[in-house]
Amino acid sequence: MTDNPLLQVRFEIPFADIRPEHVEPAVDELLASANAAIERISAGDAVPSYEDTLGALETATLPLEFAMGIVGHLESVATDEHLRAAYNAVQPKVAAFSSAIPLHEGLWKRLEALASSPAALALDPTRKRHLDKTVDEFRRHGADLPPAGKIELQRIDVELATLTTKYAEHVLDATNAWELVVTQESRLAGLPESAKEAARLSAQAKGKAGFRFTLQAPSLIPVMTYLDDPGIRRDMWWASNTRATAEPWDNRPLLGSIVELRRAKAKLLGFASFADLVLADRMAKAGARAIAFVAELRDRTEAAFAREQADLLAFRRELEGPSAPALEPWDVAYYAEKQRRALFDFDEEALRPYFALPRVIEGVFAVAHQLYGVTFEPETSLPTWHPDVQTYRILDQDGTRLGAFYVDPFPRETKRDGAWMNGLLTGRLTPSGLEPHLGLVCANVTPALPGRPALLDHREVETIFHEFGHLLHHLLSRTTVRSLGGTNVAWDFVELPSQIMENWCWEREALDLFARHHETGETIPEPLLAAMRRARTFRAASAMMRQLGFCDVDLTLHTAFDPMVDGDVVEAARRIMQRYSPAPLPGAYAMIAGFGHLFAHPVGYAAAYYSYKWAEVLDADAFDRFLQEGLFSPAVGDAFRRTILEQGDSRDPALLYRDFRGRDPDVRPLLRRSGLPAD
Ligand SMILES: [Zn+2]
Repeated sequence: MTDNPLLQVRFEIPFADIRPEHVEPAVDELLASANAAIERISAGDAVPSYEDTLGALETATLPLEFAMGIVGHLESVATDEHLRAAYNAVQPKVAAFSSAIPLHEGLWKRLEALASSPAALALDPTRKRHLDKTVDEFRRHGADLPPAGKIELQRIDVELATLTTKYAEHVLDATNAWELVVTQESRLAGLPESAKEAARLSAQAKGKAGFRFTLQAPSLIPVMTYLDDPGIRRDMWWASNTRATAEPWDNRPLLGSIVELRRAKAKLLGFASFADLVLADRMAKAGARAIAFVAELRDRTEAAFAREQADLLAFRRELEGPSAPALEPWDVAYYAEKQRRALFDFDEEALRPYFALPRVIEGVFAVAHQLYGVTFEPETSLPTWHPDVQTYRILDQDGTRLGAFYVDPFPRETKRDGAWMNGLLTGRLTPSGLEPHLGLVCANVTPALPGRPALLDHREVETIFHEFGHLLHHLLSRTTVRSLGGTNVAWDFVELPSQIMENWCWEREALDLFARHHETGETIPEPLLAAMRRARTFRAASAMMRQLGFCDVDLTLHTAFDPMVDGDVVEAARRIMQRYSPAPLPGAYAMIAGFGHLFAHPVGYAAAYYSYKWAEVLDADAFDRFLQEGLFSPAVGDAFRRTILEQGDSRDPALLYRDFRGRDPDVRPLLRRSGLPAD
């Protein structure tokens, strides 16, 4: 197995040579050598240094992380049953290895010795932060607990894993078990042809006549948005919001136990709440801070939210007469869509001809060039995993190669859904210079047709810009510690570099760099761009409140809430959501029983749902400096690059942000961008 291509960390990854049968032997060998290295690090008896503890630990785990990164990547973009089986076979071993590190007593003793030694005080700030963060992380994983505490922690973790897995299975099974088959086509009035056709094919695939609807989003959302028959909308809304509340998939009894176990875990580790435990290494730092953040946005949005519902009801009564009833929850999306069309007469599809994929990629390059001075060139030396994949290098102003990356834009049967960035190799700043970074962007945008380039819709353009924002965060990183480089930052900070890029997709000055009609070469006509910008803020308060409701439920359940004292989680969640709902929620409403973000994993998004909004506040506020000082101001671009993009996690993100903005984040630019009152 000496020629196993997964054993060597290298820039030119020989994707074509990697076979499923390489995976397990490589991972076994890399696990053995990493474990041996950890034993060596732990066995030292001299006064520990940074290099022979944390430095050595990073070196020891890199080959394993690199190999797992490549296998995971191939499993995402070019999978088959053999590769999936090989990947699934090694994942538990690697997870067990990672979770055992903070509980390794010898290693913990060495780290504690280093932390309390004079050498720790002499470390440069980045290495000192690496040490402090690692010590904190070990503690949060129980390194400092007495033996009985460690056993108790393990018991809680096993039970949390069991219950959250069960919760996830219930959601999946309950979702898959539900269907609605409509045999009379006349009942489907209002539904777009594409959704009807999908429903017809879905019925056909199940050997049924008619049209089959499910609780999966692509089936559910068009029904709630377009279908005229309120009875069908009501049935689907009910099914969706009472999902996993009946045997044999009843999640309601699990919820109290999961919340209680998380409370117990936090207490055991010395935290007041599960939110405080989870947020200790996030930008928000503590549950109370996140709660205050959500409350501030809610207080500033509530009045506009009430107005939007009044306007929507007035709109309905214009359509149906003054005695038309108040809106039910299953009416809201339907009438809102009618109202949107009446107000804006804006067809998203009209933008598509202006967004040919090659031009969109040139557009991201042009924006990055104007902001950060970097340039992009095709990179010919890198093997890829598919002929559609393009490869580029990124050069700094002085011609230094900062790194290289792959772009894999189109869907394939062997590729997973969605869009993502993956940092395959994070380079370090060393005394002899910067090691180049290697990364990739994957997406699943609308493919080309014969004789026509791939034409993207605006949402897809934003997605490309978003993922390139993550990629730039990775490629422009200049840190001395690999694990603090690039996108290895706090969860509630990591979307700042990506989301900020989306803003340039809404500005004429930026769009004119690349958005050209693929046949005529003309730029986007002013009325079309104006309509796109106006439609952006339609019912923004309702969208904001919906997200804030999820944040509030999440934070409430993971801070003060005690199921032993406060009772039923489902009822508590309904009471909280009511404040954020555009229509009264019926008593049996149980969205929380199907809320996988919070309960399908031991941690997942629990206590962290606010991160979405937090990152939006950051990106809108940071972008506001560009709006004020120049969309392509080289000075602001350079400041963003030096203070945010190059820094990774080498300093506290709150400090990085302050360096860039000169103050703490302000929520008002997000409100303004959403068309909401900001003052
Ligand atoms: Zn992202």
